[in-house]
Amino acid sequence: MTRTVKCPDCQANEPEDTVGCINIPIDAEPGEIIECPECGAEVEILSTNPIVVNLLEEEK
Ligand SMILES: [Zn+2]
Repeated sequence: MTRTVKCPDCQANEPEDTVGCINIPIDAEPGEIIECPECGAEVEILSTNPIVVNLLEEEK
């Protein structure tokens, strides 16, 4: 069983329903960093029930 969340970065770039989804491991915990397979953006899990993620801005 997996859960997915829409990538905030992909969603911002392409506000369609087809944007990349990030798989959230069933044992993921708040504070974990997950990488979007589509764009490589890193998102931090803030909450797992419901799933809330925060896009980590990449320093350039
Ligand atoms: Zn993405």
